[in-house]
Amino acid sequence: MHDFVIRNALLLDGLGSAPVHGDLAVKDGKISEVGKSLSGKELIDASGLALMPGIIDNHTHYDAQITWDPLVSPSPALGVTTAIIGNCGFTIAPCRPADRELVMKNLTQVEGMSLDVLRQGIRWEFETIPQYFDMLERRGTAINIAGFVGHSSLRTYVMGEEAPRRAAARDEVARMRALLLEGMRAGAIGFATSTSPAHNGHGGLPMPSRLADDAEMRELVGALKEAGRGVFMLTKGGHTKVPFLEELAAASGRPVVIAALLHNSTNPRAVFDDLEAIAAANARGRRLVGAISCCPLSMDFTLHSPYTFEGLESWQPALPLKGAAYEAKLKDRGFRDAVRAELQRPAHFRLFNAQWDQVEVVESANRQAEQHTIGELARAAGKDPLDFMLDLALGEKLDTVFNALLLNSDEQAVGEMLRHPASLVSLSDAGAHLTFFNDAGFGLHLLGHWVRERGALELDDAVRRLTSAPAQLFGIRGRGVLKPGYAADLMLFDPAAVGRGAKRRVFDLPGGHPRLTTPALGVHGVWVNGVRHLESLPGKVLRDFSA
Ligand SMILES: [Zn+2]
Repeated sequence: MHDFVIRNALLLDGLGSAPVHGDLAVKDGKISEVGKSLSGKELIDASGLALMPGIIDNHTHYDAQITWDPLVSPSPALGVTTAIIGNCGFTIAPCRPADRELVMKNLTQVEGMSLDVLRQGIRWEFETIPQYFDMLERRGTAINIAGFVGHSSLRTYVMGEEAPRRAAARDEVARMRALLLEGMRAGAIGFATSTSPAHNGHGGLPMPSRLADDAEMRELVGALKEAGRGVFMLTKGGHTKVPFLEELAAASGRPVVIAALLHNSTNPRAVFDDLEAIAAANARGRRLVGAISCCPLSMDFTLHSPYTFEGLESWQPALPLKGAAYEAKLKDRGFRDAVRAELQRPAHFRLFNAQWDQVEVVESANRQAEQHTIGELARAAGKDPLDFMLDLALGEKLDTVFNALLLNSDEQAVGEMLRHPASLVSLSDAGAHLTFFNDAGFGLHLLGHWVRERGALELDDAVRRLTSAPAQLFGIRGRGVLKPGYAADLMLFDPAAVGRGAKRRVFDLPGGHPRLTTPALGVHGVWVNGVRHLESLPGKVLRDFSA
């Protein structure tokens, strides 16, 4: 007898097959039968609704949050049943007790997590990667979790304070390699790193992985060959070229996930050049994918921590400064001229490209300014836009909240990226940048906006891209498909209503700190391993992947 049966649903199998009407039965956490007129202990009528495998979110940063919040909010409510953590190599294990403060300060800077939240929240019941996974297992999780070995953490563990300052010596690389293999044996899903200039740590220093030379990268990615499995993921800076990554893919025989491919209206071909280079490598038999986002990248920020600008070369002198010294720098004419000059120059990848008409004042002591753009306001005041923004913030103790629509705003282009054969729908960044933006509902946005509203993808294809496609790429066994024997990770939804609602601020982080969230629209049920209740912990720590 089946535990429950979802009846009369439009079944989207995750493989991209044409949808069919039917029933799906679950027993002991697994799909037990798919067919017609099935019976079970509990019957759920799903007439008019669609059923798909739960969403696999392959780019999250829940490493810290999950230690105090095993409910992994808000992802489960948004249809996510499996999340991959440790992206970009920003993990919290391994970590010696003496390095905890440094690791938290780095996360504060690079992933926009409040230091106070991290200090109050993180449970440091581990030092090594195996101990970290064991702790997650012990404490339980609402959704399935798989984790990368993180390059920056390996560097900090082996090189201490030198990690963000220099290339590693041979013996240091050897120790990192041993730790990487230890992590893989403990069930990591692969190895993650970043070479992106947008990734800066405490005191404005680069995140440690950015200091790795090619030899270190070859050696560490090469360890995956020895492990015999695992994915290499990196968030690349403009100087990291696809041919080098193809070389790593060829030498290791492992898939390579290349992030973050976001469309930039001031350099509109760059992302397509990368996707074409990746497709060409695929034609030569290498497994590479380009990680793209289906969400416009728009960020709330204040000048206290303006992530939007911190990747600029000309902003670096301001990064380590605090208080009066920082404010003096923001006032400095030479500093402002340098920022203006840099924004004039073309760039391969740059978060902010002087689109002042896409920077809006969200909250200001001057209520008149709210909901107007810096472009408009500066023109009206007869001032330069950078001067206008900085002077406004300086006059309000830097508390002015701005929003910038940065990348991925050209819908024609993003539609093309979504259909590109070399792309992977990704980059929710869930768990990070909590006060800047929230794309944890990226899957619902794909189904609502891109499928229903814009018709850029067929529903069955969109579902495949959120489920079996990442499962296959990452070697996640037995998930992402509606077939008997597969885990009952499911999302029941109304295709006519599915989407994500307007973002709003809630204050539920440790210490009452704020984060942005978006409600789920049109979602009628989410099951993880056959369990529907989102307040329970039916998830598994995934530690066994296919090669
Ligand atoms: Zn990331």
